[in-house]
Amino acid sequence: MLKIENISKSYGKGSVKAVDNIDLEIKSGEIFGFLGPNGAGKTTTIKMIVGLLKPDGGKISIDGVDVWDSPLEAKSKISYVPDNPEIYDKLKGIEYLNFIADMYEIPKEERIKDIEYYTKLFNIEHALGDIIGSYSHGMKQKIVLTSALITNPDLFILDEPMVGLDPKSAFNLKEIMRKMCNDGKTVFFSTHVLEVAEKICDRIAIINKGKIITVGTMEELREHAKEKESLENIF
Ligand code: ATP
Repeated sequence: MLKIENISKSYGKGSVKAVDNIDLEIKSGEIFGFLGPNGAGKTTTIKMIVGLLKPDGGKISIDGVDVWDSPLEAKSKISYVPDNPEIYDKLKGIEYLNFIADMYEIPKEERIKDIEYYTKLFNIEHALGDIIGSYSHGMKQKIVLTSALITNPDLFILDEPMVGLDPKSAFNLKEIMRKMCNDGKTVFFSTHVLEVAEKICDRIAIINKGKIITVGTMEELREHAKEKESLENIF
């Protein structure tokens, strides 16, 4: 579903190599965790996948569609939730969700049903009439999650989604991810917390200093003493 071939990215005229020759292949129907400590290169990789940053080299494709050659087609398959979403503070919650729904041409009946479902699940339905500027950080995160989920993406990409979420919402998000994957969708998310990846993901890639250290199921990762050692060194 998502194929990353040999991508690299440096900042500051090459002085910081944030991502160094990464290869990954993520299958349809899996929850894939991208695990690494602060500064490992997770956000940089994600921004390249969603087409916000151009790789210095390499190729990224979604269902065979190149993210840079056919950006519109590739992006139509993705919904992306950044780690620090910036949204229109002056809009009411419901106006923002309708704005996104209009952009994706989601039929009225479907959007009403989905907005009701997700905002209830995240316990923000009472605030839909308020302007987003009055929301707490967690509420902003939940309205962005809702806006991404109502678009029903084939590939759901999230950068550190569990940070700042209350336990119930984090649990509900985990259930949503599992349901999406059971429906054949794909989830790719980053985290710096080993336990989060362990509890939720089918497979995990560990990134450190811009390089992939290992990829596999948690059992596979644990089976390799050498990799275990590197896990302990990193976290
Ligand atoms: P975190 O969990 O802290 O967000 P991360 O794994 O997402 O970390 P990145 O944000 O991708 O890591 O950063 C990778 C490296 O690139 C770090 O050394 C970071 O300081 C550097 N970096 C990121 N963005 C920039 C930028 N705009 N300009 C210069 N260096 C950057």
